[in-house]
Amino acid sequence: MDDTGAPHLAPWQRTAAGAGLLAANGTVAPTVFAEMSALALETGAVNLGQGFPDEDGPREVLEAAREAIASGVNQYPPGPGMPVLREAIARHQRRWYDLEVDPVREVLVTAGATEALAAAILAFVDTGDEVVTFEPSYDAYAALVARAGGVHRTVPLRFPDWVPDPDELRAAVTDRTRVILLNSPHNPTGAVLDRETLELVVELAHRHDALIVTDEVYEHLVFDGRHVPIATLPGAWQRTVSISSGGKTFNTTGWKIGWLTGPAHFVTAVLAVKQYLTFVNGAPFQPAIAAGLDLSHTYFADAAAALAAKRDVLVRGLDAAGFTTAVPRSGYFAVADAAPLGASDAAAFCRELPRRAGVVGVPVTAFVHPDRRDSVRTLVRFAFCKRREVLEEASARLASLSRQRGADARRP
Ligand SMILES: *Cc1c(COP(=O)(O)O)cnc(C)c1O
Repeated sequence: MDDTGAPHLAPWQRTAAGAGLLAANGTVAPTVFAEMSALALETGAVNLGQGFPDEDGPREVLEAAREAIASGVNQYPPGPGMPVLREAIARHQRRWYDLEVDPVREVLVTAGATEALAAAILAFVDTGDEVVTFEPSYDAYAALVARAGGVHRTVPLRFPDWVPDPDELRAAVTDRTRVILLNSPHNPTGAVLDRETLELVVELAHRHDALIVTDEVYEHLVFDGRHVPIATLPGAWQRTVSISSGGKTFNTTGWKIGWLTGPAHFVTAVLAVKQYLTFVNGAPFQPAIAAGLDLSHTYFADAAAALAAKRDVLVRGLDAAGFTTAVPRSGYFAVADAAPLGASDAAAFCRELPRRAGVVGVPVTAFVHPDRRDSVRTLVRFAFCKRREVLEEASARLASLSRQRGADARRP
């Protein structure tokens, strides 16, 4: 401690602390996800906190990885990714979106979408440059922008419709904006940005000479209708870097095979950063994800339909328990308001929930800048990318909340 009572940080700790990555005592600031997963273990609660599936993905994909290991695909792959995967990504963009992408110059394979995001932000954002995102937003965004020295500007998405106000978006994007960082389909809300919003983003990017970086890892998990990549809109391609990953689409979140597509000069700039981050990763998983991308339309349609059915189980359970739930249109998560259950602070509610009802969720405050947490004060995110029995068990347990509430109401 120094004489102001603040703990003494070594110079090498101050940079990370300034970016909010280290806690004041110099330890790694624990994420609420780690805290809640630990609570789930400790209490035996059903863990709907972290978003990973509890079932394996398609057999063909798993088999292709085993086959690759057995046949010696175990050394460093090429820096931009294995040609078999880059070609499959280009075919995928053509098949689903009618986008012509050059697999040699316009595709880069990364260590998950996370590395693509990190390398893109480090490549494009200089000290003081502004990055606009919607909020709540995936927690890595704020951390990466801060570490790059950028300034994070946000536009709120409001419960339960999550539709951004076009005037707030117009006000957030200025000549200081370097990157508009989108995520649609959206985590944590399950929202899908509508075409008018995407068109406005393209218009603003042109007007203010900003880049669009778009995180579309849930592209195949849209429940009604089809995903529309912003890169397909008129005038968008030349300013857009699109990011996706095999993890969510093929239930292989632990493989960390992601990619980025866009005009060659952007891809080269990101590669220049990426080659000194991981350099390369996941050789035997690359041909396996390539096999996944070539699966029939049926696989993708069935996967989305199966997840939509799981969403319905969880949303029914949350409603029956007394939450007000925003029905997600995509992805792995549902956001529910715990205010009708008497909650005034979602973080405190989530810390109690495992003992009260045997279920773990995460407070949406984890996805919002500390100064703006009031707007999401009572919201909780629950994952539904779990087996049906698990969701039914969670629903049965959550039902005790409505019984507890009934008992409270009857108390004199
Ligand atoms: C899961 C997730 C990621 C991370 O993807 P990886 O391929 O595992 O790195 C990125 N963005 C969003 C919105 C996610 O939900």
